[in-house]
Amino acid sequence: MSMTREQVRELASFHDENSCAISFYFQPSAPRNKAHKEDTILIKDLARDVLRHAEGDGPESRTPASKASRESVRADIDRIVQLTNELRSNGAHAKAVFACAAQNLWREFDLPPSLPGTQLFAGRRFHLKPIAHLLGASPRLGVALVDRHRARIFDLRLGELTERTGLFQPLSRKGRSDGYAGYDGGHAQRRVADEVLHHFKTVAEVLKQSLEKGIFEKWILGCQDTHRAQLEAHLHPYASQGLIGHFHADVGHISNEQIRGRAEQIVERWQSDRRRELAGAAMSRARSQTRGVTGLRRVLHSLETGQVQTLLLGENLQGRAVECSACGHLDTHLVSACPLCGRATQEVSDVAEAILPNVIGHDIEMFYVKDDPEFDKVGNIAALLRFRADKPQPIAAAVADRLHTAGAAYPGRLRKFASR
Ligand SMILES: [Zn+2]
Repeated sequence: MSMTREQVRELASFHDENSCAISFYFQPSAPRNKAHKEDTILIKDLARDVLRHAEGDGPESRTPASKASRESVRADIDRIVQLTNELRSNGAHAKAVFACAAQNLWREFDLPPSLPGTQLFAGRRFHLKPIAHLLGASPRLGVALVDRHRARIFDLRLGELTERTGLFQPLSRKGRSDGYAGYDGGHAQRRVADEVLHHFKTVAEVLKQSLEKGIFEKWILGCQDTHRAQLEAHLHPYASQGLIGHFHADVGHISNEQIRGRAEQIVERWQSDRRRELAGAAMSRARSQTRGVTGLRRVLHSLETGQVQTLLLGENLQGRAVECSACGHLDTHLVSACPLCGRATQEVSDVAEAILPNVIGHDIEMFYVKDDPEFDKVGNIAALLRFRADKPQPIAAAVADRLHTAGAAYPGRLRKFASR
């Protein structure tokens, strides 16, 4: 199955003090045969490293893990190695697995095969960077295929195209048995201009409602050029704003694979334009001290006070920080006691990873930025703010509230991060 935001949130809020959270990303390698053999070797090597680490003789291990947590890690790794044997015979999808046998958790997801590689991680929390990369910058996306008397609407999520049914009432004038799931305005009347006009109005209305209900946030139109103007004339301004691109399509003949391919091209272009635009805006607003900040310390503060609307993360973000084990506060000063609640802190191994629970938990739009020298100069991290607190909200108060509501329990600790 492919994953939903709710599932990613659940994973982001997971925490295990004994470092039993295992994350596995499988990127199928092509061509088959020989490459598959290499996959297996790679996974076995990765598994050995993780186990050695858990058993306490790895170069970076802190204290040897307890027997129970070693057994938990071993059980998960065994299961992952087994799974990879099955994956070899089905090389189309990439896969993500999140496991913690000690807490009886195992989640498996299909992903589009565009991961940087096969990787295995063990830690206090799940490694979600590859997922956040896919999800953070991807709006819920609809694809509408339209001609003079028909309309079909699809969801496009993480590379999966799914047709939506039941959006049109009535769905069809007469019962159909050919599996056609879209809207058919009726063959008998299709030459009648009024019927065509009515049809385009209906489609425009369904698109508007879909956007209003949040069924999708952005959409792409596939149609013949002559029909485009006809539909666009009826679009609500709200729907026009959500339209990120269009492609030429013949509703009756285009395959799902073609629809997916064309739509993904448009999304990629839109994302890279948006990334460039937002990174530029964040940097210039930070300079003018309006609704933008740059640099790790300031961005962390803005995240903790709930100001961030869009986060931009450099691929090369390097920065040291400690995390409070009780309230989750992140601090760029490497202090041993949390300045907010006084509890012990631990240094985080990857600060870009440590901020993800907050980002995912609050549906903050996120883009990874690379190869941008200007962005590099400002510290490889920036944010656009929904507001700028002139007098910053005292974090201590926000944390006290959070500890109170979450009962200091980890799974809930980031939900109440800031009042919205
Ligand atoms: Zn704290």
